[in-house]
Amino acid sequence: MRRTDKSAWARLSLNAMSIALAAAGLVLSSAAAAADVTWDDIVNDDKTPGDVLMYGMGVKAQRYSTLKQVTADNVDKLVPAWSFSFGDEKQRGQESQAIVQDGIIYVTGSYSRLFALDAKTGKRLWTYQHRLPDDIRPCCDVINRGAAIYGDKVYFGTLDAALVALNKKTGKVVWQKKFGDHKVGYTMTGAPTIIKDQKTGKVLLIHGTSGDEFGVVGQLYARDPDTGEEVWMRPLVEGHRGRLNGKESTYTGDPKAPSWPADKNSPTGKVEAWSHGGGAPWQSASFDVETNTIVIGAGNPAPWNGWARTPGDSLFTSGQAYIDPTTGELKGFYQHTPNDHWDFSGNNELVLFDWKSPQGKTVKAAAHADRNGFFFVTDVNKLAKAGGSPNRPTALLAAYPFVDKITWAKGFDLKTGRPIEVAGQRPPAPKAGEEKGPTVEVSPPFLGGKNWNPMAYNQDTGLFYIPANHWKEDYWSEMPHYNAGGAYLGMGFRIRKLYDDHVGILRAMNPTTGKIEWEHKEELPLWSGVVTTAGNLVFTGTSEGYLKAFDAKTGKELWKFQTGSGVVSVPITWEMDGEQYIGVSSGYGGAVPLWGGDLADLTKRVTQGGSFWVFKLPKA
Ligand code: CA
Ligand code: CA
Repeated sequence: MRRTDKSAWARLSLNAMSIALAAAGLVLSSAAAAADVTWDDIVNDDKTPGDVLMYGMGVKAQRYSTLKQVTADNVDKLVPAWSFSFGDEKQRGQESQAIVQDGIIYVTGSYSRLFALDAKTGKRLWTYQHRLPDDIRPCCDVINRGAAIYGDKVYFGTLDAALVALNKKTGKVVWQKKFGDHKVGYTMTGAPTIIKDQKTGKVLLIHGTSGDEFGVVGQLYARDPDTGEEVWMRPLVEGHRGRLNGKESTYTGDPKAPSWPADKNSPTGKVEAWSHGGGAPWQSASFDVETNTIVIGAGNPAPWNGWARTPGDSLFTSGQAYIDPTTGELKGFYQHTPNDHWDFSGNNELVLFDWKSPQGKTVKAAAHADRNGFFFVTDVNKLAKAGGSPNRPTALLAAYPFVDKITWAKGFDLKTGRPIEVAGQRPPAPKAGEEKGPTVEVSPPFLGGKNWNPMAYNQDTGLFYIPANHWKEDYWSEMPHYNAGGAYLGMGFRIRKLYDDHVGILRAMNPTTGKIEWEHKEELPLWSGVVTTAGNLVFTGTSEGYLKAFDAKTGKELWKFQTGSGVVSVPITWEMDGEQYIGVSSGYGGAVPLWGGDLADLTKRVTQGGSFWVFKLPKA
């Protein structure tokens, strides 16, 4: 937050108070106390450009800044203020969104590192480097997407499935909690989220697990941010049981799990897949204060091969989950891809906004651009309503394609909320005695019409800016076998280009009409998030290494800067001493060079790195 007379006065008062407390035999550092982050700071994050306290730049995850010192007219003057190298031989993908508080940047790096930097100068204040075992199993590079901040602590998840709380002044560990067995595939890559339970007044730290490619059972956790103690845990495979205050709580959905097939020869009465069913909520949550609801995407069902989970929809995977912060109960759920056979997952961010319907009504909605190629608008009030089955397909308001040539579905039926699937897009199972089935061409491929890298919503233009990709895959079935610690897919694939001239495509979508208002093409995949501003700007990074600025209304490219390695992180903007700054991590990696087939070959020309860049306008 910007220093004002009021906060200076508050600091003086605190000084007076700390003198009084010291006299009473207590010690209180006034500097530390003055800079503590409160829930009010967090819930107002989107309105206070002097800090960036949340992944998503606000509880609604709109990634919209009210700043307009840097505009479409002057952005071409932007110059670097400083750059910081993460150092070490450890490079690979830098996917983090930084947070900024009280003049300090907290940015996570690859290999479970967290750096505190002076936001003015780039001077390193401290580094935390997590000691990682050799047998971690991250599916998609050794990345981390960011930290959370509350009170006097910063929090982040580590690749060995632990959550760490650090004192934000010193970087010293306050607590750490291991929540899963990293040897069987549990890990954590997403930024945790701070919310406040509006019923109990308790502030909670919310985080999920990753690991669907290894057959984990995806779980969402709520913890006490002061101690790290678990408050509740909610699994996202139907018929698994949650925990509340250290005791077993309710089953998720129907205890009999009718959305998963039965197997009377199995000890659980269910097919093997049900015991390893995925659904990991590995991205960050949004929070609807009014209905007191945590909103988060659930990952793909495991294995990828849907024949191992047929018949049934494999609830509660590949959809959006609405969770009660008091009890951890699943209040509502909308599934984007029933019985997901394509690893589309439902994890991509959920942006809360006021949707104008084509009939002119305003509805409190969530927007979600799924890997399956469709942009979903869903009714938040309907989904946040507890009672009955959490599965609420009729909460769908609109589903627009945001990429070209989607092959797996023709569209969505708004009455039933279900996709109109194209026959033959689920690759046939192998014939008896054969290793693999016939190859089918599918678009989008499993890497998605858009992957994890978050879109932004501009309140002035009313448009969503979607960092999308045009590609396809050769896709075939194999026999799935669960082996603890081994990949549990049952599918084979090769990613291919859809067009000769581009893969990455940044698209501006009107959420009322589904119309693409403008687009910008990139030869390499887009794997960077987006931020948009009241200065009529859209910023995103490219795999070629540029941070680019676009006119939010027209899509005209206005400025670019080469950061030295590919940009696969999420840019932010903030204000300090009357000047607007833009910050972004640089460092190529992530899923594309590991899983991307033809595109992995194409990105071999991108060199690795690891740095944080900050830009501003030169002083007049
Ligand atoms: Ca803020
Ligand atoms: Ca997955």
